[in-house]
Amino acid sequence: KLEMERLKELIRSIPDFPEKGVMFRDITTALKDKQGLHAIIDDFTNRYTDKGIDYVLGADARGFIFGAAIAYNIGAGFVPARKIGKLPGETARVEYDLEYGTNTIEVHNDAFEKGANVLIVDDLLATGGTAAAMVKLVEMLGADVYELAFLIELEDLNGRDLLDGHSVYSILKY
Ligand code: 5GP
Repeated sequence: KLEMERLKELIRSIPDFPEKGVMFRDITTALKDKQGLHAIIDDFTNRYTDKGIDYVLGADARGFIFGAAIAYNIGAGFVPARKIGKLPGETARVEYDLEYGTNTIEVHNDAFEKGANVLIVDDLLATGGTAAAMVKLVEMLGADVYELAFLIELEDLNGRDLLDGHSVYSILKY
């Protein structure tokens, strides 16, 4: 079994990506490690098994990797939250602010039944803008957020503050 300290060593930090001054936490080095991938998926699976979660909502694109594996293991369905223009059916969409400009994400508007219990998953929580938009999508469709789960949380950016009281879980903190 891989310890969390070892897992942290599998995350590669790349300075000045995607722009100067940003320290990018690269998870691909943890994903490609056999024990690393297992440790991540096992940790999430242990936490969310038998919690009555109906759907896992994964964020485009790295949230799909963890989200689908968790959904499979806990016997939930998987729903993708996608960047605008990718989903073929009718959608609900939320626009949110970035440092420069805006982003829009959407889900199929029949993705969840009213009152469904939804776990939101992404690789990393930074400012919380993406996560807050996913919370809005779930609530727009009348479903409930069980918790938000991340591999990594950048604590200095206080992303949790944008998630108005929803429970947040992260495996690794920076
Ligand atoms: P936020 O909306 O919380 O500011 O940014 C989080 C989103 O940006 C997530 O979807 C995440 O994938 C991506 N992101 C931002 N910074 C990083 C980073 O350092 N590493 C990785 N892997 N993703 C990041």
